[in-house]
Amino acid sequence: ESEAISSPLLSVLQDLHQKYQHLQEGELADYIPELAKVNPDLFSICVMTTDGQIFAVGDYQHLFTIQSISKVFVYGMALEEHGRDYVLTKVGVEPTGEAFNSIVLDEMSKRPYNPMVNAGAIATTSLIKGSGPTERLNRMLDMFRRYIGHDIFIDISVFMSERTTGHRNRAIAHLMLNFGMIDRNIEEVLDLYFQQCALMVNCQDLAVMAATLANNGVNPLTGEQAIKRDYVRDILSVMYTCGMYNFTGEWVYNVGLPAKSGVSGGIMVVVPNKLGIAVFSPLLDERGNSVRGVKICEELSQKYGLHIFDYL
Ligand code: GLN
Repeated sequence: ESEAISSPLLSVLQDLHQKYQHLQEGELADYIPELAKVNPDLFSICVMTTDGQIFAVGDYQHLFTIQSISKVFVYGMALEEHGRDYVLTKVGVEPTGEAFNSIVLDEMSKRPYNPMVNAGAIATTSLIKGSGPTERLNRMLDMFRRYIGHDIFIDISVFMSERTTGHRNRAIAHLMLNFGMIDRNIEEVLDLYFQQCALMVNCQDLAVMAATLANNGVNPLTGEQAIKRDYVRDILSVMYTCGMYNFTGEWVYNVGLPAKSGVSGGIMVVVPNKLGIAVFSPLLDERGNSVRGVKICEELSQKYGLHIFDYL
C-alpha cells in the first residue's frame, strides 16, 4: 500500500532533480575559504515521512557542513535548558529584514533580533550549559545525535577556516559582550558556534532532522525524543518568520512552510505532522539561500498543496 503512495513521490523527486541539475545560477559561499572549494554540481533531495519512509535522489550521502541550519537545534537546546521566558530576555523573535550576518541589535532591549541570524545564534550558543568548552561541545553533539540518529563529526578544516577568518562574527559577539547580552568568554563562545556550524551532515540526515521536528520532536527512525514537544512550536515559529533570512517573507508567501537554510547550500523544511524535506545544492543567491533548493521547495509545496494556508 505504501508503494502506491511512495513510488510516485520518488519519481517526482527524480524529475525535479533532472529538471534543475543543469541550472548553474548562483555562487558558492566564499567568505569561508573552505566552502569555496566545494563541487558546485552536488545536488540532492530527500523527503522523510513522520512514519519513517525515506525518498532520496542525487548525492544524498555526500557530507557537507550544516552551517546556519544548526541554529534551529541549538535554539531548541537553549529553550530546554533555560525555559522560554529566560531565553526571550537574551534573544528576540522578530525578523530583521536584513542579511544573516548584519551587525544589528534591537535598539531598546539590546537583544539580537532572532535566533536564526548570526547575532541571535551566537547569543543562543552562549547559553549552552556545561562545566567547560569540552563538556558544552559534547552536550551539543549529544543533542544533534538525537535528531540525526547516529554518530556525528565536525569538519576541522571548515571549523579552522571560519575561526581564522570570522571577524565579522567576532565583531557581533563583541557588540553583545559590550551590552551584557553575552557574559562568557567570547572566544570560547565563538569556537562553539563555529563548531556547531562545521557539523557534518548529508541530505538524508537533514531530512531526518526535519522529520523529527515534524513528528513532535520524536525521531522517526530511532523513536527517541530529541526535544521536548512543548518547544517544537517555538522552534517552528521562528523558522517560519525568520528561517530564510531576508527572503523569509517571499518564501512564506510562495512555499508557506517553516524552513532553515545555511550557506553551505542546505535547506531544511518541516511539514508539520507529515514530512521532513531537505535539499542540498551549494550554489547560493545573493541572500545566501540555495538557488536550486528554493526552486525545488516551491515546486514541491505547489504540487502537493503543502503551504500551511492551502485548503483552509
Ligand atoms: N557559519 C556561518 C557564519 O556564521 C553560518 C552562516 C549561514 O549559514 N548563513 O557566517
